[in-house]
Amino acid sequence: MPQAQTAWDNLLADLDGRYAASQNGQDDEPARYCDCRQLVIRGVRQPAPRYHDCEYVRARNALIGEAEKLVSFVEVVKPKQGSEEEITESRAKWTRCFSIAMDELAKPLLNGANGTNIEDRG
Ligand SMILES: [Zn+2]
Repeated sequence: MPQAQTAWDNLLADLDGRYAASQNGQDDEPARYCDCRQLVIRGVRQPAPRYHDCEYVRARNALIGEAEKLVSFVEVVKPKQGSEEEITESRAKWTRCFSIAMDELAKPLLNGANGTNIEDRG
């Protein structure tokens, strides 16, 4: 489902970029740049947000294919196969399911990150 994945990637990149922009000038550390694809927004590489973890990003990105397989049961209505509403609704459902699958698959990546377990927080 390349289209939905692209939309998801764009959303993540946009949020990451907004966060990075919000962090600029808030500390004395120079902007840090890395080679993560998601930090390129509209062709311009953005500085890495303060807590950006390249290793986590790579590990999470490696789960995309598995998440896509898990949500393959979600039928996506293709253009000309349904109304605009049906297409939009099916894509939204796929994106929700994909997001949930990614979060579930990525949980082990967060356990023990920086010496903490996210399950133990608040
Ligand atoms: Zn990175």
